[in-house]
Amino acid sequence: VVSYADFQNGLSLKPLSSLGIGGPARYVYEASTIEKMQELLAFSYKEKLPTLVIGKGSNILFDDQGFNGLIIVNKIHFFKEISPGLFTVGAGYPFSRLGIQTARKEWTGLEFASGIPASVGGAIFMNAGANGAETADCLVSVEALDPSGRKLSFSRDELDFSYRYSSFQMQNLCIVSANFQLSHSESARDRQLEILSYRKKTQPYSEKTAGCIFKNPEGGNAGALIEEAGLKGFTVGHAQVSTIHANFLRNKDAATSAEFKELIEKIKEKVYKSSGCKLEHEVREITPDG
Ligand SMILES: Cc1cc2nc3c(=O)[nH]c(=O)nc-3n(C[C@H](O)[C@H](O)[C@H](O)COP(=O)(O)OP(=O)(O)OC[C@H]3O[C@@H](n4cnc5c(N)ncnc54)[C@H](O)[C@@H]3O)c2cc1C
Repeated sequence: VVSYADFQNGLSLKPLSSLGIGGPARYVYEASTIEKMQELLAFSYKEKLPTLVIGKGSNILFDDQGFNGLIIVNKIHFFKEISPGLFTVGAGYPFSRLGIQTARKEWTGLEFASGIPASVGGAIFMNAGANGAETADCLVSVEALDPSGRKLSFSRDELDFSYRYSSFQMQNLCIVSANFQLSHSESARDRQLEILSYRKKTQPYSEKTAGCIFKNPEGGNAGALIEEAGLKGFTVGHAQVSTIHANFLRNKDAATSAEFKELIEKIKEKVYKSSGCKLEHEVREITPDG
């Protein structure tokens, strides 16, 4: 049974996000089983505690004021092949590892995941994608918990997905596991290695970033628009447009969320002026109250 004594208090959110930005969280807990996640949600529901489930924090901008509630880090880590090409995976499982492991076994469908520093749950929530593929493509079903911890199952057809969108973004549900059906392909491993090597060459891979900050506008490319507006290297405080890939914004050192948000707004303004295009950001801004 969960109690307040189980939580870590006042932990900095910086190490919990790839941007390395954020103040303290009132409470933090790492959940490594579905049962524990159910108990935690039931507790926070009863206590009316603002609660946020995160994965690897690779698409999150926490606030300098931190988070005035409970951050649950999803560490539900199982991985099993239940029939040929059908994988059941815990939502805390590293998405990149899933892409590499399945490609090694000559299964195609998730090669694009290799190098995306997400959890499986975060990848489903964002419908992460690359190289013309996205998470929803080979998804069969998802198991999630409602805010009180009750288990729900969804088949792929019961969920909506589009570019960097899943219906989970409109609901308050915690994804705990998923099934993916992949097909056999002898060249899967080669393709996966190619994708990873291209990613490492073209992206600021070892910097503090959240991947692409802006969604690509229909028929366009956000990175190209930012570059055309002359913004590569553009800086607000310690937040900077990457000189390697213009759609990546980096925390140079000690950027604050205020600087980061200002950089995002300035880019939107300048790109609108130079191209007439309204960019929309993909990174999730988390306010102190959830
Ligand atoms: C170097 C780098 C490269 C990247 N490349 C790509 C790319 O090629 N393609 C791409 O699409 N993205 C890319 N990203 C962005 C990021 O990896 C994705 O958006 C990813 O899907 C986020 O997963 P996460 O587990 O880190 O989620 P988090 O950042 O932890 O969370 C993101 C959102 O999902 C919610 N969430 C997370 N887990 C759950 C869960 N179990 N249940 C319910 N809600 C949940 C959170 O509450 C939050 O709102 C990149 C990021 C980096 C840093």
